[in-house]
Amino acid sequence: MSEQVLRHDKHCRICGSNRIVTILHLNDTPLEDQFVSHAKKEIVQPVYPLDLAICEECGYVHLPYIVNPEASYADYVYVSGVTVGLRSHYDQYAKDIVDDFVVPEGSLVVDLGSNDGSMLASFKRLGMQVIGVEPASSIALQANETGLTTINAFFTDKIAGKILDAYGAASVVTANYMYANIDDVVGFTKNVAKILKPDGIFVVQTGYHPEQMKINMFDYIYHEHFSYFTVDVLKNVFLKCGMELIHVEKMAPKGGSIRVVGQLKNGNRLVDSSVEKTITEEQEAGMRNIKTYQKFGMELAEIKNKLLEKLVQLKSTGKKIVGFGASHSTTTLLYHFAIEPFIEYLVDDNEVKQGRYSPGYHLPVYSSEKLYEDLPDYVVILAWQHQASIIARHQKYLCDGGHWIIPLPQTQIL
Ligand SMILES: [Zn+2]
Repeated sequence: MSEQVLRHDKHCRICGSNRIVTILHLNDTPLEDQFVSHAKKEIVQPVYPLDLAICEECGYVHLPYIVNPEASYADYVYVSGVTVGLRSHYDQYAKDIVDDFVVPEGSLVVDLGSNDGSMLASFKRLGMQVIGVEPASSIALQANETGLTTINAFFTDKIAGKILDAYGAASVVTANYMYANIDDVVGFTKNVAKILKPDGIFVVQTGYHPEQMKINMFDYIYHEHFSYFTVDVLKNVFLKCGMELIHVEKMAPKGGSIRVVGQLKNGNRLVDSSVEKTITEEQEAGMRNIKTYQKFGMELAEIKNKLLEKLVQLKSTGKKIVGFGASHSTTTLLYHFAIEPFIEYLVDDNEVKQGRYSPGYHLPVYSSEKLYEDLPDYVVILAWQHQASIIARHQKYLCDGGHWIIPLPQTQIL
């Protein structure tokens, strides 16, 4: 494993203010997606502080403790584009952008954090010229092999220059669920501004904590995820980078997401009312108010206590309990709720996680078929955001006499 360096930022990464206040303190956690092989199972994985902080000056909600991103990406071997149904999702996404913002055929589209090229493929089908930028080498290689030109690098000043030289300016730049994983958001966005055509747009889709908090979704907090954006903050970031927000849309994925669209300042598109409307909603919901987050933390503590009480009671009567789900968010949930001593193993339908061991506690991960061989008394659905599809796919487990424990938004037993 490469060297992992922990940094503690005492100044806001967006505005530089030192008025940083911790709003949520989670238990120390290893890098959440580092599921290890059998050979590495005896090696103790380091844990790092996992706090959420707000800048009182500009409202930026962020992790003040940052683990060197290059280190966390070095071991990143998972391709996330394989999920069923994503192709139609990306096709719709690309079509919406091309239609709504009148992007002519043959325009250059650059996808940052392009993964296996799924989104590039959708734009290509619409007749666009496409380029991806992806830091994970195995995934970038895979995309290139399928004919989707992908630069294997982080999107730096140098890479922006390289794109301009080789391909010219872009009509569309997209950042799909990666903008929150960037350390220097302002520097990154300035580089985006550099490669945009005068009438180009920058489209960011990212998780949206004002909605996620409504369903007590705190497990979207993990070390690779540096920023928790509001539209209020994004507007400010774009302004600092010579850009302006022109459109905002709320989306369903990941318990609540937003898609925001920006253009260069004085671009030719009108700013629509969605921007100010969403910012007003955020103000009314108290997204800059520390008390809002303290209340959220207290609610989580209550849920945790209730769940632990239940697990203690089940364990004392000799029940066998396992967990469903092996991802970033399940690691945060296991650590913060401290429920791992009750869990014998994990199951997950993602084959790349099977045969590995969970970060830190090294719970073995099996295929979900194990539930039928073993018939544990209770399965905690750690991937609770996907509870509907998990329960639907595994009706037989319930029929065979098993029970589901759903930890969030409120503990529930089926
Ligand atoms: Zn700030």
